[in-house]
Amino acid sequence: MNAWSKDITAAVLLLITVLIVGLITHLFLPLLFLAFIGVLIRHIMEIDRFEKWIRSGGSGQYPQTTGIWEAIYYHVYRLKKSERKRKKKLGKMVDQFRMSTEALPDAAVVLGAHDEIKWFNKAAMKVLGLKRGDKGQRVPNLIRHPEFTRYLRSTDYQNPVVMPSPTDGNVTLSVRVVTYGAGLRLLLAQDVTQLKKMESMRKDFVANVSHELRTPLTVLKGYLETLTDMDDGESALLSNSVRQMLGQTDRMKHLVDDLLLLTRLETQKKQSHCVNVPALLTKICNEGAVLKNSADRIELQLETQAGILGVEEDLRSAFTNLLVNALKYSPEDAPVSVRWYQVPEGFRLDVTDRGEGIAETDIPRVTERFYRIDVKRNRKVSGTGLGLAIVKHVLHNHTAKLEITSELGKGSCFSCNFPLKLLC
Ligand code: ADP
Repeated sequence: MNAWSKDITAAVLLLITVLIVGLITHLFLPLLFLAFIGVLIRHIMEIDRFEKWIRSGGSGQYPQTTGIWEAIYYHVYRLKKSERKRKKKLGKMVDQFRMSTEALPDAAVVLGAHDEIKWFNKAAMKVLGLKRGDKGQRVPNLIRHPEFTRYLRSTDYQNPVVMPSPTDGNVTLSVRVVTYGAGLRLLLAQDVTQLKKMESMRKDFVANVSHELRTPLTVLKGYLETLTDMDDGESALLSNSVRQMLGQTDRMKHLVDDLLLLTRLETQKKQSHCVNVPALLTKICNEGAVLKNSADRIELQLETQAGILGVEEDLRSAFTNLLVNALKYSPEDAPVSVRWYQVPEGFRLDVTDRGEGIAETDIPRVTERFYRIDVKRNRKVSGTGLGLAIVKHVLHNHTAKLEITSELGKGSCFSCNFPLKLLC
């Protein structure tokens, strides 16, 4: 029997009793009224008891009652019990989360909409120098580093900012912000001192080795050139060997030069000047080194005479690499277009060829050092695999971006996008 039917049965029984007694005593209406008042008083008392029980937290066993009230107490009691269970579970989870974030070696700081500190872990005290009382303070007031302030203000948190630790200048931190929820941000700071040290050791090593190789290579090349001049053609084996050695020495020299250029691009920024890009492109397209009987293949379109603020020597390397690649990786009679023009965001150089193209999966990798697609395909085409890495670095130093669109068998377009602010 459910709760309602119990109450309905009781009401029907009460009505029948009132009816019988009322008929016998001729007091039906007063008795009905009395019965109604009785039921009303019972429910008012139950409401009062229920309200007191709820006010006391609704915990523990509920009062003894019957009918619909017993059902109400029972359901509320069950709801409260499952809520308590959920709260306990959540509390445990929060504790575990706190413990894990406290154990994190990286600093974690929760920031509000106005850069105010809402919470931070233990590592943040050590790594960022935050103190217990700093909650509620604005983080740019505590971590005063121009790069960091700019990064926090920029709202573009894709790339972390690398800066010295505010507590120890010898420690290098990589700081990044992750947004979540409504206006909340998580600031993470990681100690990358060792990584930075290893990176600088790698740079020094490459620079030193390249530098040391330069002199012996020049000497070798000199002697091989002398031998070629002296060659009277009597021994085909000797002539062939000397030619091959000279070819390989040239290749090594090219590699060393590219490595030295990459190291320089990474470590020191040259002074920028106003570069006359149309004149530079005209020079590059006409240069003998580039042409190699390709003069009639190059279509130069100068749609703007704009120049940009930059390092001419570096831009020349980047543009030359793009043009040489376009000529190298397309058939000997296929045209290559070089187009300099203005776009709403700035200025753009497109080097387009109708060559072999690049597969979609290779496009993101071609700017990696020493990455050469399908070595078998390229075996006949000489190269170091450093050309596009140089292009990427040069553009990065100019706050410009390289865009590659390509289709296998149809050709490729390498676009250098320079921002409007570089106009000079
Ligand atoms: P490489 O010295 O081998 O030319 P790069 O860094 O200039 O080195 O280029 C990397 C690789 O990207 C090349 O080996 C080649 O496979 C591919 N590549 C570059 N430019 C083009 C192009 N215009 N068309 C097709 N493939 C290209």
